[in-house]
Amino acid sequence: MSKKLFQQSTENLRKAVPLMIKNQVPTTPTNYALWYTYVDNSVPQMNKELDQTIADYGMCPPATGETLYRTYIASKTETDIRQLRTSLELLLNEVTHSMSDTLADTQEFQTMIDKNFDCLARVEDEGLSFDEVMELVRGLISESKEIRHSTRFLNNQLNNASAEVTRLKAQLEQVQQDALYDGLSGLLNRRALDNDLASICAANQPFSFILVDIDHFKKFNDEYGHLFGDSVIKAIARRLQLSCRDGITAYRFGGEEFALLVPAKNLRIARQLAESIRRAVEKVSVKDKRSNQQVDTITASFGVTEFTPGDSASLLIDRADKQLYEAKRLGRNRVLPMSV
Ligand code: GH3
Ligand code: MG
Ligand code: MG
Repeated sequence: MSKKLFQQSTENLRKAVPLMIKNQVPTTPTNYALWYTYVDNSVPQMNKELDQTIADYGMCPPATGETLYRTYIASKTETDIRQLRTSLELLLNEVTHSMSDTLADTQEFQTMIDKNFDCLARVEDEGLSFDEVMELVRGLISESKEIRHSTRFLNNQLNNASAEVTRLKAQLEQVQQDALYDGLSGLLNRRALDNDLASICAANQPFSFILVDIDHFKKFNDEYGHLFGDSVIKAIARRLQLSCRDGITAYRFGGEEFALLVPAKNLRIARQLAESIRRAVEKVSVKDKRSNQQVDTITASFGVTEFTPGDSASLLIDRADKQLYEAKRLGRNRVLPMSV
């Protein structure tokens, strides 16, 4: 690294760290990379989005940081899991190759032994000289050494490989455990929500929180099958994702339940937003592939609450859940509280 480049990068780090502290960003490698890139200003679009996030939330929610990192910094490389899979495959290929190499060696060795034994037979038959016999023996010894070397090499390879596989497996598990996205809906998952809620509550910034629950969802599963139920979840997730303007973030809370984080908006505005999403959900229609029938009776109920200073994440979820329960009790397909 040139001196100028080195100075530039220490300068960047010197600027990044206080920014991370100011925005309550945990000092993880991902976040270092994110904030380093930010002060480096080498990806202006990312800076713009990060600025907007901080303007919306007064901080950077962990899942948003992760998403920005994935989009702008790690997007060129494949996702962690895919990379690990590829490494595992390459490794197994390598081992298989060196195994068949050694097997080929073994085959040659056998041929060589057969050949040498043939020669040894000739010692008696043809009365070879002492030197000629020694030459045969030397050949045998040297080739068997080679074979032994080859086997030891294979053993080493196998040991290294199995250590590597163990390491990659552990890493894969970790990556899967750390995953913030839900496989079915593509939305952020419950883990991401818990992280984000904890951070935002701690930051004491105003925001609202909406819980969404699909009405009589079990009926769709029962009538059209589980796969159709999955399609309904995906369709609603897409609908929610479309509502994610102005820094709003959608999560799959679990099962047929979703959550929306609405930064910098009070209960009244969040309620209006929920109302417009409720109407949009009413319009969602999903085709049942088996009967070729368009199902357009999908509705959802909404529980809305706003953050008050001192709220914990669980208190907030609890309040939204009570509103949601009330919406169900009053007949579903509605937003609670009714007015503010
Ligand atoms: P309510 O209007 O009171 O919310 O009724 P509901 O039928 O939507 O609620 P309930 O909690 O009784 O049923 C939810 C069902 O969702 C139960 C569960 O089998 C199903 N479910 C949960 N996760 C999934 C999923 O990933 N795919 C599918 N197809 N079904 C799921
Ligand atoms: Mg439910
Ligand atoms: Mg439901």
